[in-house]
Amino acid sequence: MANTVAQACSLSQLHLLVTGECNFECDHCFVWGGPTQSNTMTRETIEHILDQAEDLGTIEWIYFEGGEPFLDYPLLRFGVQLATERGFKTGIVSNAYWATSIDEALELLKPFAGVVEDLSISDDAYHGCKEGPRETTTAREAARQLGIPVDFISISGPGAEDTCQQQADEESTVCYRGRAAVKLAALVKPKPWDQFTQCPWEDLRNPGRVHVDSLGNLHICQGLSIGNLVERPLAEIMRNYDPDTHPVIGPLLAGGPVELVERHDLAHSEVYADACHLCYLSRDKLRQKYPDVLTPGQMYGMKE
Ligand code: SF4
Repeated sequence: MANTVAQACSLSQLHLLVTGECNFECDHCFVWGGPTQSNTMTRETIEHILDQAEDLGTIEWIYFEGGEPFLDYPLLRFGVQLATERGFKTGIVSNAYWATSIDEALELLKPFAGVVEDLSISDDAYHGCKEGPRETTTAREAARQLGIPVDFISISGPGAEDTCQQQADEESTVCYRGRAAVKLAALVKPKPWDQFTQCPWEDLRNPGRVHVDSLGNLHICQGLSIGNLVERPLAEIMRNYDPDTHPVIGPLLAGGPVELVERHDLAHSEVYADACHLCYLSRDKLRQKYPDVLTPGQMYGMKE
């Protein structure tokens, strides 16, 4: 069965949101991470996800992110070790708050040397990196000493909204979904709502990567679920994935956020910051109608 799914499935990366908790509360955060969020994965959940990834047969990479995954360091080590034992490549996304000295950073990163194949460090003004001590630089130096491949993820401020693809060592612009839709969208020059006729960033028909939260929801975009792998096997979810009949993804594929608004007869403003801004606010209006799809509440600013 896994072979049949593998032939049709392009999914190669699972990004585990191991916790919603973060030491920062960045205005641009898609997942509303922050000090008061909890929803941390259990070891059993990580094991279950890796079981499902093995069964699917197409997954190459397991990423550990959050929130801030180093806040539960034993869990992070457990997950990375188990994923490596199962034959997956592993990556970590972190803001490097823990790299308070080179010795401390070396100590914390040493278990990941020769194991983790991508350490992505968030390094921008949202994470305090332009003002305070440069933990990010210290973490990068430690990673280089240990031979861990490392790059920076850097998001620029509002106003440069024409591209938001993340590129190592270059700034990319914020997309106005998650907390950014609430905190930052009003800071940019808005555009007419009816120009947002496609989803610019996610491959909604053939996703190559999805995020998994602590409840098992599979996010094709943050807060937009295609199934729950605690409730159903990942292979079954992917085999039955029919984007055109999905109540939210179907309209997005047919005509972007504009079609989502029209198909569901939603009220809207005349202008939005970008396609994600219109999409995210429209999805928020549909949460009561599709509670299993537009979930969990954390992705829409609720404390879980
Ligand atoms: S348009 Fe919607 S689905 Fe596409 S990336 Fe933006 S928020 Fe996600």
